[in-house]
Amino acid sequence: MAKLRVEDLVVAYGAVVAVRDVSFTVEDGEFVSLLGPSGCGKTTTLRCIAGLEGSSGGTIHLGDALMAADGRDVPPDKRGINMVFQSYAVWPHMSVFENVAYGLRIRREPTADVERKVGEALKLVGLDGFADRYGTELSGGQQQRVALARAVVTSPRLLLFDEPLSNLDAGLRDRMRFELVELQRRLGQTSLYVTHDQSEAMLMSDRIILMKDGRIVQSGTPRDLYERPASRFAAEFIGNANIAEATVIRSARDRTALAALPGNIAVEGHFSRSEDIRSSGSVLACIRAESIARVPPGGADLNTFDARVESVGFLGPQVTCTLKLGEVTLRAELPARNPPSVGESIRIRIAPEDVIIISEQ
Ligand code: ATP
Repeated sequence: MAKLRVEDLVVAYGAVVAVRDVSFTVEDGEFVSLLGPSGCGKTTTLRCIAGLEGSSGGTIHLGDALMAADGRDVPPDKRGINMVFQSYAVWPHMSVFENVAYGLRIRREPTADVERKVGEALKLVGLDGFADRYGTELSGGQQQRVALARAVVTSPRLLLFDEPLSNLDAGLRDRMRFELVELQRRLGQTSLYVTHDQSEAMLMSDRIILMKDGRIVQSGTPRDLYERPASRFAAEFIGNANIAEATVIRSARDRTALAALPGNIAVEGHFSRSEDIRSSGSVLACIRAESIARVPPGGADLNTFDARVESVGFLGPQVTCTLKLGEVTLRAELPARNPPSVGESIRIRIAPEDVIIISEQ
């Protein structure tokens, strides 16, 4: 296992710059996700770290070893890095045992060691008993487990994952998310995971690196990104927030602020980051659907308002509602028990700690 250090990485395909000055680290044993919309450069970054794509500038270190510097790249098989792909890439004509043993055989490890290590790896991924099956005799989920066993069996210094769960059905994907993290923790394996699915990144990662247009726009723990988005993009991408334009009325150094939403609704909130605090001007107020609570009529606590219900949709444990507050339309998730009706006026409360003010238009 080793620490990964990427500094000022640039990848250009002719005039298309897919990755621009990307710098980040993954600590020894850490699980980090590259998250972002399609085309933001996350797969290119991952493939460049694996050595499957050439770099145009910057450096990549794994531990003390230099993997890429200013366009000179160490070949993939000399990096000590394994990758798990979305497409499983399990060889259909080989048995599960031979699929997993492949990397050990290339290294000419003694037969007894190969048998022991493959046995352990298959056990780790819950496939003991499947050693003699062929790739064609496995379900998608089982093939993904074979790919995982094949990736960990050679004890790589770094594991890379390129959307490895996105071909699985929803139920299996949910289970595999937990299993994969459990396995990574048990092995203490330094891991970099690419996904465009924010809930997957939130659930699995120690840290998330959020990318847009080839650049890193924000990074931090899942909680950091959820509670302190630095931009409209981060707020909308992580947790799908309501964003309203607002005007600052006053603010304090502890980040608390009072802002007016369109329709002259004054809300107490707090600036996402200290460096963004300002005492006047236009800002964005980020209010998450799950932080809007229905309270009894007449409630007069701070940030308590009357809102009109415009639509109600049943989700099971919750209803998703569209509410009109002043001139602002908000999506709210309320308990499904005693749901509001369309056209009704309800009393809502948004805790000041759940109103995040972002200093960006
Ligand atoms: P997705 O989730 O869709 O895979 P991504 O964030 O992983 O997206 P990349 O595959 O890294 O994005 O692509 C980043 C940008 O680089 C895109 O604009 C893409 O069109 C471009 N790109 C990728 N590979 C090549 C290539 N071989 N030649 C030219 N442009 C490329």
